[in-house]
Parts: sequence; structure tokens; C-alpha cells
Amino acid sequence: MTEGPHAADLQRASPRLQQELRETLQRFRLGGPFYVLLWGLAGTASGLWTQARDTFLLLGLAFVLVNLLRFLVKGLPDDASERAVRQRLNWIWAVLLGNCALWAGAVSWLLLTTPNESARTVAAISSYAFATAFAHNFPMRLREAFIALGLLYLPTLGALIVNGSRFELVAVSCLYLLYVSLALYRSHAEYRQRLDLEDELRRQRDLFEQQSWRDGLTGIANRRRFSTVLTHRCRQARAEGTPLVMLLLDLDHFKAINDRYGHGIGDDCLIMFAQRLQAAFPDAGQALVARLGGEEFGVLVRQPLDVVMRRADAFRAAWSAVPLQLSGVGLNSSVSIGAVAFDPARHQTGEALYRAADVGLYRAKAAGRDVVVCADQPD
Ligand code: GH3
Ligand code: MG
Ligand code: MG
Repeated sequence: MTEGPHAADLQRASPRLQQELRETLQRFRLGGPFYVLLWGLAGTASGLWTQARDTFLLLGLAFVLVNLLRFLVKGLPDDASERAVRQRLNWIWAVLLGNCALWAGAVSWLLLTTPNESARTVAAISSYAFATAFAHNFPMRLREAFIALGLLYLPTLGALIVNGSRFELVAVSCLYLLYVSLALYRSHAEYRQRLDLEDELRRQRDLFEQQSWRDGLTGIANRRRFSTVLTHRCRQARAEGTPLVMLLLDLDHFKAINDRYGHGIGDDCLIMFAQRLQAAFPDAGQALVARLGGEEFGVLVRQPLDVVMRRADAFRAAWSAVPLQLSGVGLNSSVSIGAVAFDPARHQTGEALYRAADVGLYRAKAAGRDVVVCADQPD
């Protein structure tokens, strides 16, 4: 049996993970030149430039190469898989930790080779500055960031102790390490809080967008959505010459149902009507079903008129055939339907098509209701 692709290969990366990659990558690219610069300063301040030029230059070259590597790592498109994004992040972190390890090695070598005061001062200040910058810029992954802090900080601190530096200097260094560790903790927590907040904002925005095109009672598309799709589909039908039919449906004597059974039952009736209409015209890129207001519904179907008329009549007949059972009440209901086929010569806009469907509906009502009438059909 062949193994199917792993779910993470197919699953699109979440916006949150995408954001983490974008932010990590952005900061990742900025840091590199500082290592080259500060290594140069540490080398000249310690006298390594004259004492051990070859090794000093070799390490400098290694910093330049890591810096170039930082610029070579690219971002990923918005539809990248979760696995691809995670792999890219792992790769970035590997380079980051490699960079820190290189600094650790270079500084240890520098302090062992020239244990003089100015070398120690430049190495200490540079290392502490890198550690501080790391804690503030890379709080995305706590464990890896702590490893980086250790690599950046501990060789210098160790050298201070081994070389018998003043107690006060060692103590201040330890206190500063404590501060940087706490700062990393805090920025990690703040980073996660910010991502949580942005997740919530995205969720609210999606919900709001959904609500702005959904009908509150029935859950199907509302008039606003219908108008937008109507305009779009008319343009498409005109450009591509494909068929498009609009149905306008209005429940018959609905006021009487409300008056007799109450608004609650009336609402249930509308909900059931919407469900059945949606089931009769399932949306697979072909049909749109919407509640246009009150007890009026609209349907757009990309099929020839005769096919849609048959489907509409089958729906109408099924709706009125069996009494509805709503909260223990059995009631009869029927629907009148106006239909119209899009004609590029006569329907310049979606509104024109809507008006034509309304003519069909008016005639269906006039013809005694519970019937489907095409607007173009002679009386
Ligand atoms: P016709 O066959 O000519 O369409 O008659 P009708 O009674 O259906 O038409 P009319 O326009 O006179 O009445 C529509 C009714 O629909 C009036 C209103 O109370 C009811 N209605 C509109 N919106 C809602 C709703 O959200 N819930 C309920 N329960 N009733 C509604
Ligand atoms: Mg009505
Ligand atoms: Mg009406």
C-alpha cells in the first residue's frame, strides 16, 4: 500500500504561522552585518589583527558568509503548506543558532588568545548587546532563543570568571544575564499575546464578512449578496455567452399564515422554505439561492431556461403537495415563481433582469398563484 501525503503537506499554513515566518525572516535579515562589524572592532581592539591575522580573517569571512546566507533565505507564498512553512522556520533557526555558535567560538578564541582588558571589554559589550537584541527580536521560539542567549553570553561570562576579572564585573554580568532572560520571557509572552489578538481580529473580520452577506433568519445569502452576484453573473453571461436564469419566488398569502398561526410559525415556515429551496438548487458554482426580504426569495442558475423551468416547477409542486408540520401545526403553503432568461440585448444590467423576473412573478400571482411563469411567455 502506498502512503498518502502527510496532512501537513496538503494543509495550508495558518495565517498565524505565516505571520511568524514573515516576522522571523524580516528580523533575521537585519542582524547579520552587526556580527561582521563587531567582530572587526573586537579583533582590532584586542590586537588580534596583528597577532593572529589569518585566523581572525578566517572567522571574519565565516561571519560574512553567514550574513550572506541570511539574505539568501526567501519567504513563501501565502498558499504555502504548513509543512513548508515549518521547514523554512526550522532552517532559519538553524542558521540563527549557527551564527550564535560561531560568535561563541570566535569570542572564546579571542579571549583565550589575548586575555587583555580591552579585548574583554569589547567582547563583553558586544556579546551582551547581541544577547539583548536577540531577546527582543526573536521571542517567537522560547527554547531556541534561550539556547541562543547561552551561546552569545556564556563564553564571555566564563572568560571573565576564568581570567579572574573583578568580582563586581562578574556580578553585574550575571545580573544582566538575569535581566535579559526575564526580558526574553516577557517578550515571548507579549509576542504570543499579540498573535492571539491578531487571530481574534481575523476571526472577527471573517465572521463580520460572513454576516454581511447572510440572512439572519434563514442563514442563506441575503439581498446584498444576491445583488453583487447578480451583477457579476450578468457580466459573465454577456462575455461568455453562457445561459443564466433568474427565478423570483414569493410565498402565497403569507400574511394569512402569520395572522392565523403567529409570527413564530411564520418564521419557521420561511426557514423550512429556505432549506428546501437550497436543497433543490444546491450551490456547486451553478446556483445561488438568497432571501431577498420578507417572504421573497431569488435564485440564479447557469442553465438553459427550459431546464430551470422544469426544476422550478418540480420544486413548486413538491412545496405545495404535502402540508408542512411546524411545531405540531400542519399548514398548507404554496409559492408563485417568476422566471426569466438573461438576454444580452434586453438586459443591460442585473437590475433589468430582476425587473423582468418581477414581471413573471406578477403574472404568476395574477394567474391564480402556485405556478411558475416565464416573463417572456405570452399571456
Ligand atoms: P401574496 O400571495 O400576494 O404574496 O400575499 P402575501 O400575504 O404573501 O403578501 P404580502 O406582501 O401582503 O405579505 C407579506 C407578509 O410577509 C407580510 C409580513 O407580515 C410577512 N413577513 C415579512 N417578513 C417576515 C418575517 O421575517 N417573518 C414573518 N413571520 N413574516 C414576515
Ligand atoms: Mg407573498
Ligand atoms: Mg411578497
